[in-house]
Amino acid sequence: MDHTNPWESAKKQLAKATAHLSLDPLFYATLEHPDRIVEVSVPIKMDDGTIRVFDGFRVQHNNKRGPYKGGLRYHEEVDMDEVRALSFWMTIKNAVIDVPFGGGKGGIRVNAKEMSEAELERLTREFTRKIAPVIGPDMDVPAPDVNTNGKIMLWIVEEYAKVVGKKELAVVTGKPVGEGGSEGRTEATGLGGYYALTELAPKLGKNLVGLRVAVQGFGNVGSYVAQYLEEAGCVIVAIADSQTGMMQKDGIKNIQAIREYKEKTGKLEGCPELANAERIAHDDVLKLDVDVIAPSALENALTIDNAPHIQASIVLEMANGPTTAEADEFLNSKGVVIIPDILANSGGVAVSYCEWKQNKTNEYWKKEEVFTFLQEKMRAAAGGVWDISQQYKVSLREAAYMLALKRIGGQY
Ligand code: NAD
Repeated sequence: MDHTNPWESAKKQLAKATAHLSLDPLFYATLEHPDRIVEVSVPIKMDDGTIRVFDGFRVQHNNKRGPYKGGLRYHEEVDMDEVRALSFWMTIKNAVIDVPFGGGKGGIRVNAKEMSEAELERLTREFTRKIAPVIGPDMDVPAPDVNTNGKIMLWIVEEYAKVVGKKELAVVTGKPVGEGGSEGRTEATGLGGYYALTELAPKLGKNLVGLRVAVQGFGNVGSYVAQYLEEAGCVIVAIADSQTGMMQKDGIKNIQAIREYKEKTGKLEGCPELANAERIAHDDVLKLDVDVIAPSALENALTIDNAPHIQASIVLEMANGPTTAEADEFLNSKGVVIIPDILANSGGVAVSYCEWKQNKTNEYWKKEEVFTFLQEKMRAAAGGVWDISQQYKVSLREAAYMLALKRIGGQY
């Protein structure tokens, strides 16, 4: 068995979380088998006139609690098992954070960084045309994920409108503010992770002020969680993107400026705020002597190979599926507390719900309203997960699954 296959990890998590529950076998089978799997070929003309055909996926896992909801990833390693796992985690996550959505996820196997904007637009529009029959505001609502953004969401809105004959802003979330997007969506996942840690740290006997943190992945999620933690008084000892790790023992300062630099240049190297930082291997940031590590990049950041070298006592899983099942078991046995992805990064979809709702009711929510909603959602979810973990003496991940399964299937 491939221990880094996300779908295998997801199924193991489900088996573990339900091992001591008397779950209806039919309900269990429903969770193990997505409702619908859509696989499409996406041929486009490249700028040089050649034709390339890309593989696109949309998995609709479960819609018991509402329309399928989940991001769209453009990455060269996207495959069906990854999308299947991500869609399953969305079903669980949306129930943990308690928004009226089911779970879905999609992706295209493509190296987005090598594509021109015009090529990405043609790719997105053709993919949208292919999946248009199965998406819609009350059916399945995609959103940005790795290497996708608000601009890509607007191409989907436009192309979907051509197919169905009317403009439906609520067909996707993550649109730019002013074009149907919600205030606060960009920051939401990182901010939600900060709220989750704020809620759980005192229960774990920790104070955020002075807490030493290393963040792996410095994209949308990683940069914002680092920024909010810095603002709360944490010491951001290290950050990393896919090329570089940067460490500064007394704390990297002004994360906001670093994010702006990274957004502009696509890299951390050369950023004036990092002039005094030591360069380290990007994967080494997870092994540093810190209190909290926040894997915020992709799956399989924590495996059985590097888990024995983890020194942090808290893992804040901001990425989806960053910990393999084996690493999870190992870290649990060592007493490391893992704040699971299905809780820690659920702030993004909570604010996606705000956007969807605003589009459907033609309302505008101010950023403060959105953040108040997000904070309340994160506080309730983190508190609920904590209480179950205490009551049943299970890990936070198992507790989060138990909370979700109760909401989806009405039973533990
Ligand atoms: P992104 O593309 O903005 O950022 C990903 C970052 O990870 C980039 O900085 C990239 O350089 C870095 N990276 C990749 N491999 C790395 C490695 N080995 N070491 C260090 N850095 C590495 O993507 P994002 O939107 O920030 O998403 C990150 C993760 O969070 C994904 O797992 C995604 O599914 C999850 N997530 C995102 C959202 C959201 O709202 N964007 C919501 C929930 C979960």
